[in-house]
Amino acid sequence: MQYESGYAYPFTQNYSIGLHPWHVNSQWQNAWEQYLPLLNNKHIWAVGECGLDALCKTPIEIQTEAFRVQIETACKLQLPLIIHCVKSFDKVLGILKDYPKVHAAFHGFNKNVSLAQQITKRGYYLSFGEALAHPRNQETLKHINLKQVLLETDYATIQIEKVYTLAAQTLAMQLDRLQEQIFDNCEHFFGKKLIL
Ligand SMILES: [Zn+2]
Repeated sequence: MQYESGYAYPFTQNYSIGLHPWHVNSQWQNAWEQYLPLLNNKHIWAVGECGLDALCKTPIEIQTEAFRVQIETACKLQLPLIIHCVKSFDKVLGILKDYPKVHAAFHGFNKNVSLAQQITKRGYYLSFGEALAHPRNQETLKHINLKQVLLETDYATIQIEKVYTLAAQTLAMQLDRLQEQIFDNCEHFFGKKLIL
């Protein structure tokens, strides 16, 4: 979500709040201090997206500082963490070792089976979106624990129904059975009951 300071945001849905690595700059501490009070709102279900992106202009040192502070906040408030990670998996997994209690999901996952298994073995979730149309990602989905899978649209124009259909076809599962499992996973991940 884009949040404008001073703007009374109507929290009619549930959100996450985070400093995305694309938008982290030398002033990130000020921005984070403004966001902090909002994190106590019951409609804020997670911290993120936050993480590391080797392809963006923000210096990696600044990205790392902002990422660590957000992980610390997530731990303190017992909120799950939604991670944006581009070409930085070793670094992100290394940083996460310092925070063994954090509950995290890697969003927009678009990598191979062996990396996926390395991540899920550590207890983290993987969230798949439009990249599920790619056979490599379908292979990945087939070879990980389904209890650690989430589905998303991200900013993409793809409909969530299409992502569910792709996942159900990949796993040769009934759509309603898959939906039940993903909802269950969401409730475990967010620690909250989903009401539709
Ligand atoms: Zn992202």
